[in-house]
Amino acid sequence: MSFLIFWDSTSPQGLQIPVAQAIGAILGTHVELQENPVMLRGFDGARGQYNASHILTGMQDIYTRKYGIGDYILIIVGKDLYIPGRDFVFGLARPSIRAGIVSTTRLNNQYYQRKSDMYDTIDRVVKEGSHEFCHMLGLDHCRNSECIMFCPSTLDELDRKRKTLCPACQRKLKAAKRYF
Ligand SMILES: [Zn+2]
Ligand SMILES: [Zn+2]
Repeated sequence: MSFLIFWDSTSPQGLQIPVAQAIGAILGTHVELQENPVMLRGFDGARGQYNASHILTGMQDIYTRKYGIGDYILIIVGKDLYIPGRDFVFGLARPSIRAGIVSTTRLNNQYYQRKSDMYDTIDRVVKEGSHEFCHMLGLDHCRNSECIMFCPSTLDELDRKRKTLCPACQRKLKAAKRYF
């Protein structure tokens, strides 16, 4: 069983390797990197956003039927994502198919008219990416605002998180890892 990151061509290039390495360090496992082979479905022209849930369904249809379910897969895209009922989402995971997705759109300083900084973007993608992988492993949200598993609703809340799990979530990850 492996941990795979599918880096979509719409995501900023050059950040892949540091992101995959840092996520691997948080999860305590090797994380592989590939170009995303999955077509992005679910574009909503009226909103100018992609339905994250549709992309994960497409992923299930195309990828898992071909290769079987087994790997934990995270797609990283440069398109803005939403799910019905929410203005936007930074990311989404579907543990039943071991798939998740993160958008880099709102993790860039430029989106907020701030000075661009590659390291800020890497930090945020690492936090969001490990968060979604942990959901795939069965971890739920945490109330500790510094923990990876805290659910941020703003960029500031995301920036306030540290790139580690709190001791309680660390124990849950350790328990989940017995199965892989
Ligand atoms: Zn979450
Ligand atoms: Zn926690």
